[in-house]
Amino acid sequence: MIARCADVADVIAAVNFGRDNRLAIAIRGGGHNGPGFGSVDDGLVIDLSMMRGVRVDPAKRTVRVGAGCTTGDVDHATHAFGLAIPFGVVSTTGVAGLTLSGGHGYLGRQYGLAIDNLIEADVVLTDGTFVVANTTDSPDLLWALRGGGGNFGVVTSFLFEAHPATTVYAGPIFWELKDAARIMRWYRDFQASAPDEFYAFLGLQTVPSGDPFPREHWGKKICVLLVSHNGAAADAEKAVNAVRAALPEPIIDFAGPIPYLALQDMFDGLYPKGLHWYWKGDFVKTLPDAAIDVHIEQAARVPSDASLMHLYPIDGSVHRKAEGETAWNCRDATWSMVIAGIGSDPGQAPALKQWAKNYWEAIHPFDLGGAYPNFMKDDEGEARIKATYGDNYQRLGKLKKKYDPGNLFRVNQNVRPMA
Ligand SMILES: Cc1cc2nc3c(=O)[nH]c(=O)nc-3n(C[C@H](O)[C@H](O)[C@H](O)COP(=O)(O)OP(=O)(O)OC[C@H]3O[C@@H](n4cnc5c(N)ncnc54)[C@H](O)[C@@H]3O)c2cc1C
Repeated sequence: MIARCADVADVIAAVNFGRDNRLAIAIRGGGHNGPGFGSVDDGLVIDLSMMRGVRVDPAKRTVRVGAGCTTGDVDHATHAFGLAIPFGVVSTTGVAGLTLSGGHGYLGRQYGLAIDNLIEADVVLTDGTFVVANTTDSPDLLWALRGGGGNFGVVTSFLFEAHPATTVYAGPIFWELKDAARIMRWYRDFQASAPDEFYAFLGLQTVPSGDPFPREHWGKKICVLLVSHNGAAADAEKAVNAVRAALPEPIIDFAGPIPYLALQDMFDGLYPKGLHWYWKGDFVKTLPDAAIDVHIEQAARVPSDASLMHLYPIDGSVHRKAEGETAWNCRDATWSMVIAGIGSDPGQAPALKQWAKNYWEAIHPFDLGGAYPNFMKDDEGEARIKATYGDNYQRLGKLKKKYDPGNLFRVNQNVRPMA
């Protein structure tokens, strides 16, 4: 059964119905979840995709966001006021799933994770009651929602703090794979000294075979830096030019001044719905030369043009919150890594999965134990979830016991209720 909710009353009815009929319940925000936790067989999907209102308060710089919004819905609404909330890098992703497990993207080094900007959430709990969680009412629930995923109830709306972002100097710069070792060595040192407003994620992937990429480079394996500078125009250009000067001549350079809104949906067309995905993640603290060698060796075996490895920075502002301040625990990692086997041919799905698994097994010894929950699949096991939440796991388990003792909300990276 799919309950297409129009408002909080529908969500309350759906939760009560699912609980009373002992159904497995999946909560669907944007439907982008890797393991597919936004859906469930033989159970109830609480589909929030119709609850998509956004209200911006430009004076207070706050934004009220319906739980079914994509990040693109919100960017569209905030851009008119020169504001943005730090979300991810593909605008078709749901705000709810992204935020509840952390949420990292271009503005993260400057303004933190999405959860660091979450002021308040409206929540329907397992017994059908409605609560508002903020720093004065149910502060423990707000703490759990800041990284603990969909374990604690159905969030029906979010209140975020927004920040200035209008025109950024941004875009992808591509080098051939033969230059990757040099770029990666430079990149690990660069990031440690880059100002917060300069965010650059690194990818090992393939030049897409289509416009606007020059035909002579289609299908080439590459190392890409996706730069984004959200500072004064002159500073931004100077900073990206310094990167250009430090590195070999790229084969493609699309970086320049663009509206933040255009940056946010730049890659939507490359990842349409319906593709086969298998991904694995890790938190990464350092990138020694030996790890770089493994990355390059594994990336060279990529089975499809859409598959990729990305290293997303999670330092700067993210590091300035204490580990215990939110349920998201890993405040000392430098990157959140994802290895994603992606393709359109169903027959290729096993090869995509095998490549991602092999790559991860080879690189994991260099990484931390846990991973960004939004880059984990449904086959990781409880030890990985514990490693991800570290010292916060106990507190999350106790709050799960308080807010969802029967584990009604278990179609997720599940935290078990703990006495
Ligand atoms: C192409 C692509 C790009 C991505 N890029 C980034 C990125 O740049 N940064 C980043 O941080 N992540 C990124 N992600 C990961 C993304 O954050 C996760 O896949 C996330 O789970 C998607 O959220 P959703 O609402 O779309 O998913 P859904 O499938 O709708 O929901 C996922 C899960 O979230 C929980 N949930 C959803 N809505 C609610 C709610 N209202 N209340 C309670 N629980 C809820 C439930 O447990 C649900 O099963 C990307 C994913 C994709 C596919």
